[in-house]
Amino acid sequence: MAQRVAVSDGAAGSRRTSRVRVAVRLRPYMEPQDEKREGPCVRGLGPQKLEIINWRNATETLQYQFDVFHGEQSTQQEVFLTSVKPILPNILHGQNASVFAYGPTGAGKTHTMLGSQEQPGVITRAVKEVFRLVEAQKKDLDGWEYSVGMSYLEIYNEKVLDLLSPGSQDLPIREDKDRNILIPGLTLTPLSSFTDFDTHFIPASLNRTTASTKLNQRSSRSHAILLIKVVKSQRGPPHRQQTGKLYLVDLAGSEDNRRTGNQGIRLKESGAINLSLFTLSKVVDALNTGAGGRVPYRDSKLTRLLQDSLGGSAHSVMITNIAPEYKYYFDTFSALNFAAKSKQIVNRPFVRETVLAPTITTVKRTREEQEAGGSGEHQNKKFKEGKKAEQSPSPPIHPHSSPDSSVLDRLLALEKMMMGSAERERLNLLKTVAQSRKEIQMLKEKQKELEDKANKFNKQNENESKDALLFKTDLPLLHRKQSTVAKPRKQQAVVTPLQVSQVQPLQQCAVVCKPSQFLDKKKKRVQTEVGQGKENGGPDPPSAVDVNWESHLDSALLEQSRRKILQTLNSGSLKDLKSLQLIGDKKAKLIMGWREIHGDFTQVEDLKQIECITVKRFSSFIKANILSSMGK
Ligand code: ADP
Ligand code: MG
Repeated sequence: MAQRVAVSDGAAGSRRTSRVRVAVRLRPYMEPQDEKREGPCVRGLGPQKLEIINWRNATETLQYQFDVFHGEQSTQQEVFLTSVKPILPNILHGQNASVFAYGPTGAGKTHTMLGSQEQPGVITRAVKEVFRLVEAQKKDLDGWEYSVGMSYLEIYNEKVLDLLSPGSQDLPIREDKDRNILIPGLTLTPLSSFTDFDTHFIPASLNRTTASTKLNQRSSRSHAILLIKVVKSQRGPPHRQQTGKLYLVDLAGSEDNRRTGNQGIRLKESGAINLSLFTLSKVVDALNTGAGGRVPYRDSKLTRLLQDSLGGSAHSVMITNIAPEYKYYFDTFSALNFAAKSKQIVNRPFVRETVLAPTITTVKRTREEQEAGGSGEHQNKKFKEGKKAEQSPSPPIHPHSSPDSSVLDRLLALEKMMMGSAERERLNLLKTVAQSRKEIQMLKEKQKELEDKANKFNKQNENESKDALLFKTDLPLLHRKQSTVAKPRKQQAVVTPLQVSQVQPLQQCAVVCKPSQFLDKKKKRVQTEVGQGKENGGPDPPSAVDVNWESHLDSALLEQSRRKILQTLNSGSLKDLKSLQLIGDKKAKLIMGWREIHGDFTQVEDLKQIECITVKRFSSFIKANILSSMGK
């Protein structure tokens, strides 16, 4: 096997890890009338900078800096010359390189990578350049022979499929002893010229797009990976051999698949895609921050495959494609956050000549608010208030489809996940603690109030209950059973005592018992929260979890409660999640973050996959919630 020459090969143990260069390309408007009507929500500020309107506050813009910014006027040739050509000579020296196009569907990834006959993209230009470089070396008579080959594959639903051999099965990804990544069984077609490449590549790419009946859906959900391999062999002894690999990747669309309404089986696809893209973001992040920690290449097929060509001694470029239209706003925003490691909030309106300036009161955010990022609910409220301002000729963002609160919640979770710095984490944690303290205080007051009411009510009832019970004993048995066994909801337990009339003694009786149960439960919750100190950092809750508690319960009811919990986990808002037992603000946000990445929970047990939810915590959670929903 040919050996890959790593820059660090001479110095064992001091492996150099190179950064991934990040370029952003903004495509032009597709419909000129859209541009006239709405104006862009994102625009360039120079060769490296761009700004986007702040979705939280239209009087601010968010400015981002990248290695390169390609504006809407940029040509295919400019993108190639600036972002791709400089890395290609390395392939002829036994090093690896990768170029990948990232961004939402419709933002220009395929245009950038593949292009058209009239405007060929990176693939055509890069392959031509590789052949030009090889020819130049041959003329130099440097004592080496060069051979070029290609493979073309697709990762779809975390399966590796050979596009040069249609109908092939999922291929394995392996690593040899020199840490080269290999795919046994993958077709490698030898190429003698660019024309030769075209002959194989064109039918294979058609193959890719016609393989599925719903071609757009599939091609925007799969990663298309072209590999150009250059093997350099020494003519004379010692007959050394070096292999350089170039990966040219058209990634799956980064859009939020759930927001675009994908459901059912496609949810699984979007989950898989998100996993690969999410892992890619973690890999790029780990490489670019150079923290020296583990780079999670193995967490997805895409990153595993690119392992020897992304970071390390490889040369990598990510071209993030974005679109100017408002309907892409949220996807553009998350793509930029994926690509950027820093952003700056600038206090100036995004002035558009084609759109009237918003009339919402300009509330300058305090520094503290900016740093803390604001709590979800607060920001939501602010946004909703902004939306209510009917007289505003231009809402803060997204004039076409106003985002619902779940989108905003997800954005907050996303932003937190992607932009989360230690400082922000610390501030958020402090906020969570302060909030929990406030809640505990409120609960204590409420508890006292309810105890007083219950005592008063108890006394009042002592004399009346006997007669009332006698009066009601001729009620059908079922009714009695319902009011004593079937558990009234929390709210009933708290509110009904003040509303019951004399003619409902059995309910009264039930209610008389309820407040103390309710209070006990509240007390327990308060104790747990106090005991834990903070939601995630504290020890596991005291293990009062009786392992057999489920066996005493009716299995149909048990199933029903589990379904209800699952439903809340999958579609509940932040507030709904927080209404679950043992779920506070932090865990609720983590649950939302998990949903963001993996799609729906298939069973409540999936909760254990969330970092802070240990097996023990999960048992407490499930018990508390099932008992609470059954009213035990
Ligand atoms: P994606 O692959 O990200 O889904 P496409 O590359 O298919 O997006 O682009 C969507 C549409 O926009 C296509 O019609 C494409 O030709 C056009 N387009 C994308 N980028 C540009 C550009 N820079 N200049 C002109 N047209 C573009
Ligand atoms: Mg595409």
